[in-house]
Amino acid sequence: MTSKIIPVEPFDYVIFGGTGDLAQRKLLPALYHRDHDGQLPEGARFIGASRGEYSQEAYQKFAHDALRKHVAEDQRSDDSLKRFLARLDYVRIDVQSDKGWDVLKAKLDDGMEGKIRAHYLAVGPALFGPITSQLEKFDLIDDRTRLVIEKPFGRDLPTAEKLNNEVGLHFREDQVFRIDHYLGKETVQNLLALRFANALFEPLWNCSHIDHVQITVAETVGVGSRAGYYDQSGAMRDMVQNHLMQLLCLVAMEAPATGDADSIRDEKLKVLKSLKPIPAENTVRAQYMAGAGPEGKVDGYLDELGDESDTATFVALKAEVENWRWSGVPFYLRTGKRMAMRMSEIVIQFKPVPHSIFGEGAGSPISNRLVLRLQPDESVKQWIMIKDPGPGGMRLKHVPLDMSFADNFDGHNPDAYERLLLDVVRGNQTLFMRRDEVEAAWKWIDPIFETWNETNQPVRSYTAGTWGPSQAIALIERDGRTWNDGDE
Ligand code: NAP
Repeated sequence: MTSKIIPVEPFDYVIFGGTGDLAQRKLLPALYHRDHDGQLPEGARFIGASRGEYSQEAYQKFAHDALRKHVAEDQRSDDSLKRFLARLDYVRIDVQSDKGWDVLKAKLDDGMEGKIRAHYLAVGPALFGPITSQLEKFDLIDDRTRLVIEKPFGRDLPTAEKLNNEVGLHFREDQVFRIDHYLGKETVQNLLALRFANALFEPLWNCSHIDHVQITVAETVGVGSRAGYYDQSGAMRDMVQNHLMQLLCLVAMEAPATGDADSIRDEKLKVLKSLKPIPAENTVRAQYMAGAGPEGKVDGYLDELGDESDTATFVALKAEVENWRWSGVPFYLRTGKRMAMRMSEIVIQFKPVPHSIFGEGAGSPISNRLVLRLQPDESVKQWIMIKDPGPGGMRLKHVPLDMSFADNFDGHNPDAYERLLLDVVRGNQTLFMRRDEVEAAWKWIDPIFETWNETNQPVRSYTAGTWGPSQAIALIERDGRTWNDGDE
């Protein structure tokens, strides 16, 4: 039995940065899909805002072009495109000036009392402060207004606190939605379902039965022409501080008392606070060199940047959660650009059986492994041992109980933004990061940078198109374990 989709009430979304890359590739397509599926109510409207000169018609044309590029053909129909585009409007605002805000206010004033209004800041974080103060100045915030902000949430603890303080001057915490789109992925939410809607896993989900956990977020793309921008962040700030740490929290947290947003976020916060400070020898940072990408021969990071830099495009860490449940269980995290394949997954490696009753001819039992593939091809695989079928005595075989989303669920597999954008309207903050979570994550990350500087931790190299530097392989192999590298 499946549960019902919760309907949403009428709303307006203002997309600051409505002409940017994020709006074109993710936000407009996500909103279109929800409309195409009949989930948007009458009266739902989207207003793009930026400094560009667009009439309403020109913005609708702009959005139409974006949808043709980023929505699969079989998901586009003339009727639903027409319906969606009719919901779109545009306002020209330089958010650092006073011009245009009264036009936005007039557009929002459609006489619908108590309508939900969400402001999505798809702009650089330097504009979060100016936009939130202008929203207040022009009387565009009430009890039902919501604010959506995109990472990066600072580049360290002090800058994150500053950003949160700026936003907090004008919005209550329950009005602020910090998006980490990884949390909107089906498989990530499935982790909650697997852990807390089954009796099977939870008794085993601890240091008595789990040997270690691996979390990999590997990309094949490089940074190319965005090298200058990327160099300000790097893999640690761009991926580890948010995506990987959020995944770690969902794996490691205790069962919350209820499924509501704050119960879940309270438990994730406890995990962040239990992370053991990490010594330099349990970290590897590296940059890709020239090698192979999906498009053929590719340049190295420093060539793309055209400068010297110690910004890492790859990071591997051996983390530990210091509490009763996880004592002694390593969490190996790694992420990188220009890796051998595009793949994000969580591997829960169980301990071996205490004693094998099978003779040598049967082969040794291989330890159970639960693999949650986030992308591509979202799936959950539970690897178990069975008897190899057929005559010839007992031979053990390692096979997956395989739940692939594409094979088991028909139709369009929704992008994370589709879910998250409507959760904002519903006021459901479960899949969004709370202020204290963001700050607790920086409290753990900042000392890693300090350790790197103090110990002059070398920036290693890896050839583009590989699984990272040999030191990252050594990080796990010196403990007698191996990375899963997408094999299982
Ligand atoms: P982008 O392509 O550079 O777009 C920026 C948008 O902001 C444009 O619409 C731009 O339009 C508008 N803008 C800039 N200055 C403005 C001002 N003073 N007043 C009004 N509008 C202004 O950036 P993006 O890639 O979409 O990223 C937006 C934010 O999302 C960034 O913080 C980024 O880190 C984050 N993010 C992006 C992605 C992604 O996939 N792209 C993923 C995760 C997070 P005008 O220049 O015409 O004003």
